[in-house]
Amino acid sequence: MTERLILLNPGPVTLTERVRTALMRGDWCHREPEFAELMKDINARLVRVYPDMEGSFDAVSMTGSGTSAVEAMLHTFAPDDSRTLVLANGVYGERMAKILASHGKPFVVASSPWTDPMNLAEAERLLDDDGGISHVVAVHHETTTGRLNDMSALGALCRERGLELLLDAVSSFGAEHIDADQLNLTALAATANKCLHGVAGISFVVARKTAWAGLPLDSGGVYFNLRAYHAGQHGDGFSPFTQAVQVAFALQEALAEFEEEGGWEQRRSVYRGRATRLSQILESIGVASLLPPDQYSCVLRSYRLPKDWDYAQLHAALKEKGFVIYAGQGGLANDVFRIAHMGNIGAADLDRLCTSLVEILKEGST
Ligand SMILES: *Cc1c(COP(=O)(O)O)cnc(C)c1O
Repeated sequence: MTERLILLNPGPVTLTERVRTALMRGDWCHREPEFAELMKDINARLVRVYPDMEGSFDAVSMTGSGTSAVEAMLHTFAPDDSRTLVLANGVYGERMAKILASHGKPFVVASSPWTDPMNLAEAERLLDDDGGISHVVAVHHETTTGRLNDMSALGALCRERGLELLLDAVSSFGAEHIDADQLNLTALAATANKCLHGVAGISFVVARKTAWAGLPLDSGGVYFNLRAYHAGQHGDGFSPFTQAVQVAFALQEALAEFEEEGGWEQRRSVYRGRATRLSQILESIGVASLLPPDQYSCVLRSYRLPKDWDYAQLHAALKEKGFVIYAGQGGLANDVFRIAHMGNIGAADLDRLCTSLVEILKEGST
């Protein structure tokens, strides 16, 4: 194995030296004022990632992976006394239905096969039949396949019918467009270690100030009760539970780097460049994408495993050359491999990746 491993899995990502070095900033106590300041600074930067959200949204951060933020968002904002409509076309939409079920929240699901777009026709039918639906939950970028779900159609539906949207933006926040007003967005959940290029261990929820203000005093739950995080982090700056201090150092540095580099639009253009280059190379050696190219996010693409290759073989051959690709999930496990475009991947790394893919897949010389 080469020394520098390039991660092409959908998070955690290959870090920049600057972010890696931030992990070493020191030993801080999470109950000291300097950490409260740091948390406030992180939340302020998070809400500025999409400048339109600054002013009408507040971010809160919690220690846990992306799923913890998704679960906390659903626990805190999905109602107990009206129904939530879940749009599921992959692992992450289905996971949100599972979370709602486990929290005893009433919900209905409009599902479609993983390779299809969100089932908006079924969503409309369910809404027509059931006047008790007040909220919609959806996945912005369905990492299962790489599909960027159709947010403009979903936004129109939510606005027309006055439905509040709770969005899993874990693998799109910081790299794809999020227009909160167009979406009728109430809250989104995301994480430090995907498009923001931080370290795994902190995730966050960004929600409308009016939604935070409208939460009941006792909204139940303990660790996943975001009301307590909001009261603390937007009060004296402290969180109800111990935060991952060094991960917070890294996230602050990653956000500073993100801003200096030009924000989400710049990141999208960098990812798009990598996506185009890789898909062209793969196509030239006969490797087909799972979805039509124009349906992918900039963040990740799924490709059909070439004939005579199994995933483990391809993964091992690429890892030998210093690259970690990602398997398909569930029913796609034997059919696809995935390549994410996030993180600190230099021009030389990308060149080497292209050469390695051709060598391995075309010439068979591992
Ligand atoms: C990565 C991801 C998550 C969260 O996964 P964790 O392993 O908990 O970080 C949730 N939703 C989507 C769409 C993701 O890509």
